[in-house]
Amino acid sequence: MSHLPRLAAGLLLICAPLAQPQEKPASAPSSPRSTVIVNAQVADGTGAPLKAVNVRILGDRIENVGNFLPRQGEDVIDAKGLVLAPGFIDIHNHSLGPVDVGTTASLFAKPDDRDAALFKDPLAETQISQGITTVVLGPDGFSVWPIGHWLDQRRQNPAALNLALLVGHATVRAEVMGTDYQRKATPAEIAKMAQLVEQGMREGAIGLSSGLEYDLASYSATDELVAMAAAAARHGGLYMTHIRDEADQSFRALDEEIAIGERAPIRVEHSHIKLGTTGVWGKAPEYIRVIEAARKRGVDFLADCYPYDAWNATIKVLVPNKQYEDPKSVAQALADVGGADHVTIVRFPANEGYEQHTIADLARTAGITPVEMYIRIIREGDAAHTEADVIGQTMTEADIKAFYQQPWVMVASDGGIGVGGTHPRGAGTFPRVLGLFVREKHWLTLPEAIRKMTSLPAQQLGWKDRGTIREGAVADLVLFNPGTVIDHATFAKPRELSTGIDTVFVNGKVVWRDGKATGERPGRVLPK
Ligand SMILES: [Zn+2]
Repeated sequence: MSHLPRLAAGLLLICAPLAQPQEKPASAPSSPRSTVIVNAQVADGTGAPLKAVNVRILGDRIENVGNFLPRQGEDVIDAKGLVLAPGFIDIHNHSLGPVDVGTTASLFAKPDDRDAALFKDPLAETQISQGITTVVLGPDGFSVWPIGHWLDQRRQNPAALNLALLVGHATVRAEVMGTDYQRKATPAEIAKMAQLVEQGMREGAIGLSSGLEYDLASYSATDELVAMAAAAARHGGLYMTHIRDEADQSFRALDEEIAIGERAPIRVEHSHIKLGTTGVWGKAPEYIRVIEAARKRGVDFLADCYPYDAWNATIKVLVPNKQYEDPKSVAQALADVGGADHVTIVRFPANEGYEQHTIADLARTAGITPVEMYIRIIREGDAAHTEADVIGQTMTEADIKAFYQQPWVMVASDGGIGVGGTHPRGAGTFPRVLGLFVREKHWLTLPEAIRKMTSLPAQQLGWKDRGTIREGAVADLVLFNPGTVIDHATFAKPRELSTGIDTVFVNGKVVWRDGKATGERPGRVLPK
């Protein structure tokens, strides 16, 4: 926003008492003051071309959209040069807290609520500075438990943005099987897990998440997932999944995911779609054909994609056959991702000296081979009951572009605050798509990019009053400069804030302005 509109709004605030000296401000809370945003180009979230219309906000709702004039006494924001869009909905967000790191140990740690990332950082500046107004938490199979208590805590300590929560498959599996998880579940255990999923849904979860590439969940059979997805579907939930393999077995893992969607049946959100090893690089067109065939058969299937060529997960996902100390398996795994210089340790409580170094670098320093270095990191982690968190730079731009250009692929960060902030996607995703993919590379139009950030996730979540700008919708809104919006977070500085996002409204309240949080915390637990 330029200086002018703030000045104009400020002047109106100063002038209002002069115009009506008798009126007491005490009436304000029962009849909230309206705000009109004028001169913006409006991307309404549907993908329709930009429109020059005014938008009036009253309370937590959009009251009017059109070519009307502001009324006397209203706050006016002059948004000349800016685009007004619905608030961005991040359907895959890791701002939950310590349970959310993808390790089996984290599931048994039973963290205190005060460890919740949104408890420690309720203003969530790395999120709202991107224009994110709602985060969906608990992806990849890892959620808190029990669901209801945690959501109550969030209602009592609201954050700057809205949140919704998934019930995690691995979380429920750990509840039922305990440490005896390295096997298929029995029918009785599966029945118990399905009951817990239903309990989570009744307590406010919006669906089931899974992360089948992660250790604890990797032992589960397809039937177990179908039963749990069916339990979520009975309560209107979705199934969001980090599939069993994003590397050489990507196609087989995709087939399983589609089968779960068809058998449950349930709508499917494919998390962070990617082709992450040399063996499948360049195969996006084929992958897309499999998904389109399923969609034609009636499978309700959408996907999300983060705008980076590197992933972030635990070190063990690199070796799919779980032979973490077998030199041959490890050598194959490192070759598959393009070499040990493609893997950087970003978080390793057992030995922080390794952080921010590639496995290739660490091996050179230690005077050993990269394979030996990998095994050393596994052993040091196992001894300390932890696992290194790594970044693997293993995706190709051609595949990312192909995915982004599909109408059923939305934008999601797979990042967040707290432990979700070790990859630049945690602070940069949405501005990066707008600045790099739209403005610089012309991969997609601005209205289409906005649709992927707003109405498409809202559709997947079944939310009718968010994700578009129309009369009566909730006033989650973002004003940004389409000529300058860009990310600044890097792998070395993953929490660097993005710029170009001017003003962010959550439920009608301004949470971000002038490059900083306003301190307002109007966030709600969604959908109710
Ligand atoms: Zn994941």
